[in-house]
Amino acid sequence: MASQPVDFHSGAPIDLDLSVEWMDGSGLNEPLVQVHALDEHTYILRQSLKTHYEGPFVFLLLGNTGALMIDSGATSDEETWPLRHFVDEIITDWLVAHPAPSYSLTVAHSHGHGDHIAGDVQFSNRARTSVVPASLEGVKSFFGFTNWPNETVSFDLGGRILRVIAGPGHEEAATLFYDPWTGILFTGDTVYPGRLYVVDMFAYIATLDRAITVMAEVPVSYLLGCHIEMSSTPGQDHPLGSLSHPGEAPMPMRPGQLLTLRERAVEIAHVPGVYKFDDVIIYNGKAVVDDYLNPSSGTEGGSD
Ligand SMILES: [Zn+2]
Repeated sequence: MASQPVDFHSGAPIDLDLSVEWMDGSGLNEPLVQVHALDEHTYILRQSLKTHYEGPFVFLLLGNTGALMIDSGATSDEETWPLRHFVDEIITDWLVAHPAPSYSLTVAHSHGHGDHIAGDVQFSNRARTSVVPASLEGVKSFFGFTNWPNETVSFDLGGRILRVIAGPGHEEAATLFYDPWTGILFTGDTVYPGRLYVVDMFAYIATLDRAITVMAEVPVSYLLGCHIEMSSTPGQDHPLGSLSHPGEAPMPMRPGQLLTLRERAVEIAHVPGVYKFDDVIIYNGKAVVDDYLNPSSGTEGGSD
């Protein structure tokens, strides 16, 4: 059965309704995974805070020849984090409506920390699937960066051509993804309503500048990051390790918040410390981040 390819250009960016009630670990009968379709080609999956306190978000974007998954969650266990099951189901259903031979899946990451890559193993034996190595060399070579971090490159899902923005600052191999179909800039742990752990502030500011350059060139509707840690009370976060987040702040952020964040980052760049704002808390400096995430050991680490 022949089918017309989906036209990802006309009408883009589409209108989005992001007024989703995200499960926050406080409901008795919450599922292990919350699956939300933004439209039939775009999915957001949230891991339950009950199975990992990071409660990360995973994104699945479908194009005519393949799909991209951004991140794979904080745990590997398919019983408590059945990511593969849901992703296979979404892709299978999509292919019923839009048959395509040799449909591929790329598993990429916002960055290489454990709470974003632990589910990779669920996809290691999947047919026509590439898992992008989370290392800096792996990211550069997979996406074809030749002038990292001073560039953006494109990644084509078949008529849905994403921009991949080099994004070091939180982590050296971080990337941001811009999707013209939804107008969403996927910002990983670089920008989200929570604790922004910045280990290299000057790299971070340069990353924000690259995002701002993209925002000047294309319509950006929302920034979607990979966690929610702020509460609905301005400046107040849910403590690290909480298995429920009653009253979370909204997950989507607006482009203007990134501009404001950039101004604040420049102001504090030279003075390591913790800076609380209404919508985010910035941890500036590797020692500050390490001290917060591993107060006893004083060593490198932290899964976030
Ligand atoms: Zn994280």
